[in-house]
Amino acid sequence: MLRFKRKNFFKSINFKIALVFALLLLITLEIVGAVFVRQLETNNVRQFKASVEIPTYIDNSLAEQLALNDTTKANNQIKTILSNYNTTNIDEIRVVDSKGTIRGTNDVNDQGVVGQKTTDRNIKNAIYNNRSYTKNTYDTQNNGRYYVSIVPLYSSSSTGNNSQLVGVLYVRANMKSVYSNINNIMAIFVLASLIAMILGLGIAIIIARAITRPIEEMKQQTQRIARGDYAGQVQVYSDDELGQLAKAINNLSIRVEESQESTEAERRRLDSVLSHMSDGVIATDRRGNITIINETASNFVDVSAENAIGNSILDILKIRDDYSLRDLIENQDELMLDFSSNERDLILNAYFSLIQRESGFISGLVCVLHDVTEQQKIDRDRKQFVSNVSHELRTPLTSLRSYIEALSDGAWKDPEVAPGFLKVTQEETGRMIRMINELLSLSRMDSGTTRVDMELVNMNEMFNYVLNRFDMILKKDDNPSKYYTIKREFTKRDLWVEIDTDKFTQVLDNIMNNAIKYSPDGGVVTCRLLETHNQVIISISDQGLGIPRADLNHVFDRFFRVDKARSRAQGGTGLGLAISKEVVQMLGGRIWVDSVEGQGSTFYISLPYEPYEEEDLWDDDAQN
Ligand code: ADP
Repeated sequence: MLRFKRKNFFKSINFKIALVFALLLLITLEIVGAVFVRQLETNNVRQFKASVEIPTYIDNSLAEQLALNDTTKANNQIKTILSNYNTTNIDEIRVVDSKGTIRGTNDVNDQGVVGQKTTDRNIKNAIYNNRSYTKNTYDTQNNGRYYVSIVPLYSSSSTGNNSQLVGVLYVRANMKSVYSNINNIMAIFVLASLIAMILGLGIAIIIARAITRPIEEMKQQTQRIARGDYAGQVQVYSDDELGQLAKAINNLSIRVEESQESTEAERRRLDSVLSHMSDGVIATDRRGNITIINETASNFVDVSAENAIGNSILDILKIRDDYSLRDLIENQDELMLDFSSNERDLILNAYFSLIQRESGFISGLVCVLHDVTEQQKIDRDRKQFVSNVSHELRTPLTSLRSYIEALSDGAWKDPEVAPGFLKVTQEETGRMIRMINELLSLSRMDSGTTRVDMELVNMNEMFNYVLNRFDMILKKDDNPSKYYTIKREFTKRDLWVEIDTDKFTQVLDNIMNNAIKYSPDGGVVTCRLLETHNQVIISISDQGLGIPRADLNHVFDRFFRVDKARSRAQGGTGLGLAISKEVVQMLGGRIWVDSVEGQGSTFYISLPYEPYEEEDLWDDDAQN
């Protein structure tokens, strides 16, 4: 972690600014220092050289002594001259004559060399070449810098014109004082530079921090914006470029937040529109892989959204065998898809459209699935109904025609058959009129134009009245071999129910008629009347043919008959139960059937019922 931080520090602008600043300072100090020290050195050396230069009068007096023949006297004089001369900074002065013999030295301890030949090559050269010689030397033994000067000495001849080389003056001076001075100054300079560097570095870091802190804050803010957190604001420290950048970032953050919010709101709106749509919607990318599927669509295709996303629309709609993606893109017609299964009927209409950019680039497909099952069923039922009606009318008309043809061919003259034939035509016509009346009343109920006259009726009395009528009919029946009994199992309590008496009587008549009609062997028809806390339930059970289990759901359908021939022979139209169902539903009730084939059927009717207390009823009557 620490290493990571350090690595980051070396990469940071903070470090780079400090480094550049320090390097600049170092270079400046180096150049200034070098120039200054060089200048100082040159000056000091020049001054030093001037200070160790032997004055001309000494040169002259020495040359004078060298020109003398009396060597001993001259040597003594030389010694005196040298010892009298103040030799600050000078280590050694030697006087060498033109023959190379050392004639004097100022070194008191080295007087032994006087009279000896010089071994110094430079001195010999100077004598030989008759010229002066200066040199800075470095003595490695004692780390000393020395200045050596060899100056030729000339005698001024008595004749006056030609001056003659009589020897050389050798001066050797220690430059220690010069360099120690420079070294001291250098040391001070280095120290000052160091302090300046440290201070400079510190200042550079502080300045760099001042610059990088807002940058760092801005970086963090932009990272927060990227993460979707727009709450923070960058602090604006100044009005310079960085301050302006900070303001721009704050502005940007607000703008991004606004546009993010509007995108989010848009997305939510789209989401809720999609999820509340009764149509299924599927969107794909340009390869046909699903990117969006709403709940309705996933229910239609019976694949969860998670499983559908990423899969090809061809697989999800199960149309891969018949269509390619290209087909869907090129002809965006509607397709009829059958998603029916054992549990449900489902026919879907699929409409396709392209998602296209302005440039024409196709970026995907949208498929809208519309449930047309009900529509299809209605369509089918309508067609079936028309075909049923035609068929139902054709049969009696055909038989009518054949009877009428027979009659007109001469049968009307035959008193034996004519009455029979006329009776049949009468019956068939009656059945057709009945059927057409029933169809008309069904159609009125379908269109909602039937008038319903509701009244409060004592159901026990009403039901009993209907059954009494049937008792009368059965007693009058000419066929005593079929013996029917109508049994009543009524609750003792009077049940007052709000109904349309005429229409409900029609329903009871129809069910009773069926009970007798479809019980060819006679038997007991049991009629029950009972109540629950909010319903009156009427049931009519017979011991007749019963209804096959598979047909139980269809007996209330228009024109449905278990046995068409038998029903027709009995004068049935196949519309009685359909009308009964419509009437009961109009009264707010329900009708259903229970049956075991060969043993009998029970038809049930439930009607809404509010139990009245006796007093309530009397109160109501009193008010009326
Ligand atoms: P229909 O005029 O043919 O009687 P309905 O609508 O009254 O027409 O009845 C439809 C069919 O239901 C009948 O054709 C018959 O097959 C069957 N059905 C009705 N009631 C009974 C019953 N009590 N027992 C057996 N089958 C019945």
